[in-house]
Amino acid sequence: MKHFHKIKLSILCVGFLAILYGLAHIDQPHRKSSDETTTMAENDISKTKPVEMAEQKIMYLTFNDGPSQNTEGILDILDRYHIKATFFITGSNPEYFHLLKKVHEQGHTLALHTYSHDYETIYSDPEAYFHDLVKLENLLNDQTGVKTNIIRFLGGSSNTISDRNRNGIMQELVKDAELLGYVYYDWNAENGDSDPKLPPETLYQNALTSVQGKNTVMMVMHDGTDNANTLTALDQTLQEFVRQGWEFRVIEDANMPTFHHQRDESTSAD
Ligand SMILES: [Zn+2]
Repeated sequence: MKHFHKIKLSILCVGFLAILYGLAHIDQPHRKSSDETTTMAENDISKTKPVEMAEQKIMYLTFNDGPSQNTEGILDILDRYHIKATFFITGSNPEYFHLLKKVHEQGHTLALHTYSHDYETIYSDPEAYFHDLVKLENLLNDQTGVKTNIIRFLGGSSNTISDRNRNGIMQELVKDAELLGYVYYDWNAENGDSDPKLPPETLYQNALTSVQGKNTVMMVMHDGTDNANTLTALDQTLQEFVRQGWEFRVIEDANMPTFHHQRDESTSAD
C-alpha cells in the first residue's frame, strides 16, 4: 500500500513537471520571437543611424584673395549649382570692390583675409597686422554694410614665413585675435591653386584627392587675379562634389567646427 502511494506520488510529480515543462515550452516561442523582433529592430536602428551620420558630408567652400576679374565667373557657377560659399577678401583690386555687394546679395558669406596681402607689411608686428585688418573691415562695411569677425590669416595660422619678419608672431596674433573677438579659420583641403600655373585638370584632381576620406571639409580655393584656372576647373569640380553627395555650408558664427592648423602643419595656400 505504501509502495503504491509512492508510485502515485511519483506519477503526480512527473505529471506536474510535464505540465510545467509544457507551459514553459508553449511560452518559449512567444518570448523568443518577441526577443528576436526587439533585437532586429535594435539592429536596424544601430545599423542605419550611424551609417546615415557617417555619410553626411559637409563642405565649407571658401575663396581667398578676391574680388578680382575671376570673381564674377565663380559667382555664376556657384549660382548654377545653388551653392553658397565664403569669400575671404583682400583690398588688392579696387576696380572690383563693387563685386563685394554682389557676393553679399547672392547669399554668400564675406569674411576678412588681409587688405595688403603682403607678408612683410602685416607680419612685422601685431599693430601692423590689426591696422591692416581694420582697414579691410572698414572697406567691407563701406561697400556692403557687412560687419564680420570671421578672419583667415595670410598663409594660415601656423605659417612659418612670417617668422622671418618677427619670430613667433603667429602665436601672438592668434592670441590677440581671439582676445579681440575674431574667429579664424584655416582649412583641411585645397585644390593647390596657390600655384596659379597648375592646369585646371590638376586643380580638379587635387581637389578630389584632398577631400578623400573626410566628412567635414574646409576647402580653400582662390579667386585672385592670377586664378583663372580655378575658374576654369570649378564647374567640373563642383559637378563631381555634388555627385559625391557633399552638402555645402557657409561659415557662420554659431556651431562651427574649428579648422586650426597645428604649428608643424605645412601648407601651400595663402
Ligand atoms: Zn591669400
